[in-house]
Amino acid sequence: GSHAAHASEARENGARRNLSPDAVINLDHGDPTVFESYWRKMGDNCTFIIAGYQSISYFADMKNLCWFLEPKLEEQIRRLHHVVGNAEVDDHHIVVGTGSSQLIQAALYALSPPDEREPISVVSAVPYYSSYPEVTDFLRSGLYKWAGDAQRFDKDAAYIEMVTAPNNPDGVMREPVVNRDQGTLVHDFAYYWPHYTPITCPVNHDIMLFTVSKCTGHAGSRIGWALVKDKEVARKMTKFIEINTIGVSKESQLRAAKILGVISDGCLHFGSPDADNFFEYSQRLMAERWQQMRDVVKRSEVFSLPEYPFQYCLFTGEFTEAHPAFAWIKCKETAEDCEELFRAHKILTRSGKRFGSDPKYVRVSMLNREEEFNLFLERLSAIQEISNGN
Ligand code: PMP
Repeated sequence: GSHAAHASEARENGARRNLSPDAVINLDHGDPTVFESYWRKMGDNCTFIIAGYQSISYFADMKNLCWFLEPKLEEQIRRLHHVVGNAEVDDHHIVVGTGSSQLIQAALYALSPPDEREPISVVSAVPYYSSYPEVTDFLRSGLYKWAGDAQRFDKDAAYIEMVTAPNNPDGVMREPVVNRDQGTLVHDFAYYWPHYTPITCPVNHDIMLFTVSKCTGHAGSRIGWALVKDKEVARKMTKFIEINTIGVSKESQLRAAKILGVISDGCLHFGSPDADNFFEYSQRLMAERWQQMRDVVKRSEVFSLPEYPFQYCLFTGEFTEAHPAFAWIKCKETAEDCEELFRAHKILTRSGKRFGSDPKYVRVSMLNREEEFNLFLERLSAIQEISNGN
């Protein structure tokens, strides 16, 4: 048995190591496989077994407002926020979703007035996460409608503003920009974790979205959660998920509970030499990647990257700068379509246009496996050499 396991592991590793030198590298999606190396190191610590007779029911806890939320997951979510200190949880209901993607839709449903003739406007400041317009308008809802850049929203009417902090694509910590009293806010905190950005305070808002995808890297489990202050809003979000998928996979919830628990346990050993602490390990990884990329970009005139302030992180107890999950790269030559330039060098990125911004920007994922990231750096360096040679 163990021989076969080794052989298959070797094949798996082999397949990844054999990336051909002219392979297309896909950095369009933020697929968080960078953390695979950590979880491989953890071996069987997160392995758990579900027998055929377990977790059969639709229901998890009928006493809970979110009746399909596994109590173990709720416990580990609250515990992790206490350990990391990134969000206040004690005054909030928790609603679990199939990724935070489902919770974005649940929040739009819950915040839309049910009896208006006009759909409510949904806005977010440019550059905004490219899924917001897609998700908002996909089913042509009569309840809500995408209204674009929050900076330019001048309608004297109710609105929902998506506030993404740190922001996808550019990594900036954000605040609401419309600031009128007819507005409701959805705070998307997918990236408010110590590996991406200094934790400067425990955030405390009416609706806050988090996701396992960007926290631990287990995007395939499709688990997100909303921290919701208002009981009626939490109830409506739960109703949306009931109508949409009658709950959220229990296998996924239990696996997520296990993994979050292991991370919280690991945080008790902060500063240990073998870096069992997930955030310590992953922060180091992100910092290294950003350093390597800044070194390459610095050597030329073609590209530029945003700068982030050094801030005191309450979690690590150190002054650090952000190391975002995406690089928001600007092509300095104004005529350039940056996505096209990268595609010509077999690197797939997402154009600034998709974020309501300019085609001279692209968003590049920093979360791929090491081999792809290294190939990306080589090619980035080559683009600049060609250009410098001109
Ligand atoms: N919000 C933001 C800002 C994101 O970047 C993402 C993932 N790219 C999501 C939400 C959705 O992630 P998931 O559905 O995997 O939880």
